[in-house]
Amino acid sequence: MSGGGYNPYENMLSIVGNAAERLGYQQCEYEAIKYPERELKVSIPVYMDDGRLQVFEGYRIQHSTSRGPAKGGIRFHPAVNLDEVKALAAWMTFKCAVVNIPYGGAKGGIVCDPSRLSERELRHLTRRFTAMIAPMIGPEQDIPAPDVGTNANIMGWIMDTYSMLKGHCVPGVVTGKPVEIGGALGRGEATGRGVMLTTLNILRELKIPVKGTTALVQGMGNVGSTAAKLLHREGVKITGVSDVSGGVFAEEGLDIPDVVRYLRAKKGNLLSGYESAKVRHITNEELLAAKADILIPAALENQIHKGNAKSVQAKVIVEGANGPTTLDADEILQEKGVVVVPDILANAGGVVVSYFEWVQNIQSLYWTEEYVNEHLKQIMDQSFESVVQIAKENGVSLRMGAYLIAVKRVVEAKKLRGVWP
Ligand code: NAD
Repeated sequence: MSGGGYNPYENMLSIVGNAAERLGYQQCEYEAIKYPERELKVSIPVYMDDGRLQVFEGYRIQHSTSRGPAKGGIRFHPAVNLDEVKALAAWMTFKCAVVNIPYGGAKGGIVCDPSRLSERELRHLTRRFTAMIAPMIGPEQDIPAPDVGTNANIMGWIMDTYSMLKGHCVPGVVTGKPVEIGGALGRGEATGRGVMLTTLNILRELKIPVKGTTALVQGMGNVGSTAAKLLHREGVKITGVSDVSGGVFAEEGLDIPDVVRYLRAKKGNLLSGYESAKVRHITNEELLAAKADILIPAALENQIHKGNAKSVQAKVIVEGANGPTTLDADEILQEKGVVVVPDILANAGGVVVSYFEWVQNIQSLYWTEEYVNEHLKQIMDQSFESVVQIAKENGVSLRMGAYLIAVKRVVEAKKLRGVWP
């Protein structure tokens, strides 16, 4: 992973500590939020198609349950590690607090490359992992969802495995499921839609017209491809996109529906091999440094770091990914006058609609996609306004503004509940 061994958990601790001090909290009031409440590491045995037994490493970490059940995705990626999952779990706590939904934060992951597993291997891995974390999860305890390398089908297997262990159907144990088994309409696109709404909000705030504005998107998975598609529809010119296989760039703007069609049809959903008139191939580093008004990192953490932050030309960064900007890169960008809309606000659309899915599962009452999207927009717009307002009042960045809101909500919940026993 880029970023020179940067530890995302240390990154998170530093911002949270800074926000708590600015809020005037005593160390004893916020000390506990520096530690995850529970960490589980599991060794997952799977019989591979060639008859070998392979043991995979997996994690489920609950950072906080102060404001409600723990909530957060499950990542399948070769670079998954304890510090990454801890940081991702904590970011979920603060993300849920910024958008004010009644959840704490969690995250899970398995060290694996899902593109190298057959469907049977992936299913067995998912089911065995679910059984091993089952004592920790549940609709009232901890509710997983998709993240990098996982999707609706995998969430369906998690729901089925948990339900088989309980002996009855428990749709609310996981969100991001297929609609046919209790998934919410609009969940698949929710994170990217939230990124699109946030991008339109920041353009409005900065008085930059939408039409003709140029944007770059790093990562064309669930979040990036949806954000690119919806922004393109709004009139934003997407000039460059990339994924793990490299990037493509067109000064005139890419034909995003065509790129998305190509990605869907291509094995592994990769951009490599995409050809079109006036399109040239670039590397990920070139994409991050290309000329455009907006940059949307929507791949992995630590992509914009000390070594490349100076070369970023975009005026605005909207963080679709979790933790794409390291702390020292953030300082460089601030000095350059680049406006960064932080991950815990910009990519919160996914967890907001996951919350809607969980509410629908509990009530066994289902909403239309229009109703879901309308309520998502309301929450994203309100949260954006609150963050901008507090950042202006305190003369701080949008990231610090978001953390001032989030840390206050989490610490106040902790204070009201007290320390048991
Ligand atoms: P995904 O697996 O669907 O897509 C990830 C994309 O990133 C792929 O296109 C992949 O090729 C690309 N990628 C991986 N490594 C890369 C690299 N080194 N350089 C460039 N591209 C690279 O994952 P996703 O669900 O879209 O998640 C992307 C980011 O958004 C992650 O940080 C995730 O935590 C965050 N996020 C996801 C959701 C969600 O609902 N899926 C919600 C909130 C935040």
